[in-house]
Amino acid sequence: MTEFPGFDTRAIHAGQDPDPATGAVVVPLHLATTFKQDGVGGLRGGYEYARSANPTRDALQALLASLEEGTAGLAFASGLAAEDTLLRTVCAPGSHVVLGGDAYGGTFRLISKVVSRWGVEHTPADLNDADALRAAIRPGSTRVVWCETPTNPLLNVADIARTAEIAHEAGALLVVDNTFASPYLQRPLTLGADIVVHSTTKYLGGHSDVVGGALVVRDGDLAEQLTYSQNAMGAVSGPLSDWLVVRGIKTLGVRMERHQANAARIAEYLTAHPAVSRVLYPGLPDHPGHEIAARQMSGYGGMLSFRLAGGEEAALRVCERARLFTLAESLGGVESLIEHPHRMTHASAAGSPLEVPGDLVRLSVGIEDVDDLLADLEQALG
Ligand SMILES: *Cc1c(COP(=O)(O)O)cnc(C)c1O
Repeated sequence: MTEFPGFDTRAIHAGQDPDPATGAVVVPLHLATTFKQDGVGGLRGGYEYARSANPTRDALQALLASLEEGTAGLAFASGLAAEDTLLRTVCAPGSHVVLGGDAYGGTFRLISKVVSRWGVEHTPADLNDADALRAAIRPGSTRVVWCETPTNPLLNVADIARTAEIAHEAGALLVVDNTFASPYLQRPLTLGADIVVHSTTKYLGGHSDVVGGALVVRDGDLAEQLTYSQNAMGAVSGPLSDWLVVRGIKTLGVRMERHQANAARIAEYLTAHPAVSRVLYPGLPDHPGHEIAARQMSGYGGMLSFRLAGGEEAALRVCERARLFTLAESLGGVESLIEHPHRMTHASAAGSPLEVPGDLVRLSVGIEDVDDLLADLEQALG
């Protein structure tokens, strides 16, 4: 159903034709691990064993490909499982990876602590400094430029089209982690990226009840290699997870609209608050990435970070005093969350070039009534 132009129409229908056997309007949850063959090798619809393919996962994969305007989507057990499969498919001993200076902590840990043991080297770089990026790239051995935009937790914005150009000049692939924006706000494959990565745990699932990951590509060879790895490495998502992500995606558009409307109000409120020294939200005109974000995104999203004039102590106090904002890791669900990246999500980056400041607080702004969210921040900062 990729022929429908509208994003919200595709979110509700792509990959989700009514079940041919029963007419069920909702994609069936297929728990079967194996499928009856009509004679040896006589597969029905290509299904034999559920690691290789499962109809519920196929629905999600078709949906993801449609939303990201790719040709193939692949679902995994988590965002990091997707990343691991990707890195071990496109890299080999001697390969080199350039990653943005404040990539997700788990991505940095995977590249620097795990994949590195197989002889894959990495260099962090400021992706918005074209000279620094070119200097970090080692033509011939850089296989991947890893870009996250907006970043977690500093909300830096990278120019996807320009980063793609620089990566491609050196024969490297551009990977974009699109978890923060979601395909509703940004479609990196249309801007020159080769591979989109998602933690579907976040906005795509959207209800804090499923862990999952995905890759989406356009290139046929990449699709074939990654599909082979998905089966050969086996880090596939389970059918219940797939089903929950399909269900979550149906409301992605309306959720994102509310997430970002609430985040914009909160950004404005925090900007004027004397206890706050800086608000990091790409929707603010003084944000260094505002113009690029306005060009390559259709909105600024629901994630926002801010720094406290009173330093780390003050940041910890706000996190502890918040009540409606739940003190918790993760993001992208309907409920608002607050966290201290330096001690929580990004603790694994301590002492590395990717360390984040202690006075920083990150909000995942949910879809509650914004006046209640503002009142909670008012009492927490008071
Ligand atoms: C959460 C997250 C990941 C990792 O995904 P998991 O589903 O937790 O494995 C990767 N990138 C970003 C930006 C994330 O927020």
